[in-house]
Amino acid sequence: MHAPVLPKSLKHCRCYVNGEFVKSTKTFANYSPVDGKQIAVVYEADEALVDYAVHSAKKALSGPWGAMTVEQRAVLLHKVADIIEARFDEFVAAEVMDTGRPVHQAKTLDVYRGIHNLRTFADLGKQAHGEMFESHLPDGTQLLNYTRRSPVGVVASISPWNLPLLSLTWKAAPALICGNTLLCKPSEETPSSATLLAEAFHEAGVPPGVFNVLHGFGKDSTGEFLTSHHEIDAVTFTGESGTGSTIMQAVAQGVKPVSFELGGKNAAIVFKEADFTAAVQGIVRSSFTNSGQVCLCTERVYVHRSIFKQFVAALKVATEALKVGKPNDPDVNMGPLISLVHKEKVLGYMRLAEEEGAVVVTGGGVPTFNDERDYGAYVQPTVWTGLPDTARCMQEEVFGPVCHISPFDDEDEVIQRANNTHYGLAAVLWTENLSQAHRVAAQMKVGVVWVNHWFARDLRTPFGGQKLSGLGREGGAYSLEFYSETTNVSVRI
Ligand code: NAD
Repeated sequence: MHAPVLPKSLKHCRCYVNGEFVKSTKTFANYSPVDGKQIAVVYEADEALVDYAVHSAKKALSGPWGAMTVEQRAVLLHKVADIIEARFDEFVAAEVMDTGRPVHQAKTLDVYRGIHNLRTFADLGKQAHGEMFESHLPDGTQLLNYTRRSPVGVVASISPWNLPLLSLTWKAAPALICGNTLLCKPSEETPSSATLLAEAFHEAGVPPGVFNVLHGFGKDSTGEFLTSHHEIDAVTFTGESGTGSTIMQAVAQGVKPVSFELGGKNAAIVFKEADFTAAVQGIVRSSFTNSGQVCLCTERVYVHRSIFKQFVAALKVATEALKVGKPNDPDVNMGPLISLVHKEKVLGYMRLAEEEGAVVVTGGGVPTFNDERDYGAYVQPTVWTGLPDTARCMQEEVFGPVCHISPFDDEDEVIQRANNTHYGLAAVLWTENLSQAHRVAAQMKVGVVWVNHWFARDLRTPFGGQKLSGLGREGGAYSLEFYSETTNVSVRI
């Protein structure tokens, strides 16, 4: 497989503000998780640049962007999607460079979904509609009430590193089709695809100030300057639950609307009625895709006691068959973690699991390659058993390629145990019994339940989490709702 071409502009990632690529006085280095080497220099937006960007975005709300119809905005978003498609290999290269993930994953998941997000919301935005109510008062007065939608204003979008282009476009597309202007702060770990996306918006002719990219960190940096800026009108955030709480405090004084997609500690339940082989393959996918760095990944697996031993044995074989390696190898299933810092965090949980009494079925450490990858952020896909539900490794999000398997005896017990966490993002049920699937799905305290599959999503459906996993829902009409203000017009007739 050829190494995808990397655009020169990504060697020095600049911010994109008011229709221009700008440098700032501060820079930071971007390192490859494959071998730990420096790959780029990134310009960090300081407080003055953030302030300038907010004012540019505010100004752009009126002017050509404000005057455009939803159809005209949709044409521009489609144009951006077409440009990404035309520069597909460059976007793949950007995503692979920052994350070290397999090239085939960047193609079929990250960049594919980036394009799909833009096109889907461009089209859904045109279908947004209001409501109408006729009222009859006791004195005979008649009222016609109807709702009107308008943009919320300047939206700050803060996104994580795990699926960079996917997360960013998932927020940018609905925000922009609703007429808002946007300030995006991608993760400091993954500045490249956001920089390329800015190039695509520029090339598409989106007016200056409408779409802005501000690189930098969170605390005491770009993220904090942005979320605490008193002239932003809403914040959409994806990341850790703790960061969500910090951002909530930052916007509390201005009572700004927030949409939060946060962490998870997701359970999968394998009933004795499951298709055994499909469930084993499904758990391998849901636990180890993107090296376990998807908020929706499964970290807790509950398997009916009657099939527990066979299941553990089969999962061990399937996990050990995964190939961990370089992005360009077409046979590779798993790349490195995002960074050496994250590797240390995940290895810390691997040590903690053993201290807490886990039996390591497979993995539990660092693979050896005897080449430059030994300096990278690789860890082994890991399966544990033997932990109580109360163990920290059963309650805290590891966000790495780890899963724990526990036996269960009956349905009520496993529902209670699966729900017994502060998180509530996703669950997967493996069963061929239809009644059981619906009965259990109705009792899961999560935002999404998959039955006999994992991860596939229709973008019109609601997405979000309960408890510490989030606030609000995005997707389809839910996104249009968040990114719009609704006014009721009441007319006496
Ligand atoms: P993170 O919270 O550390 O960082 C996310 C973003 O917030 C980054 O851009 C970061 O720079 C910024 N940030 C950090 N502190 C900030 C502050 N004080 N003010 C403003 N911005 C700040 O998360 P991460 O490590 O990048 O991503 C992993 C987490 O994201 C996991 O918990 C994962 O479950 C979660 N996630 C959730 C979803 C979902 O849809 N629910 C999707 C993807 C990832």
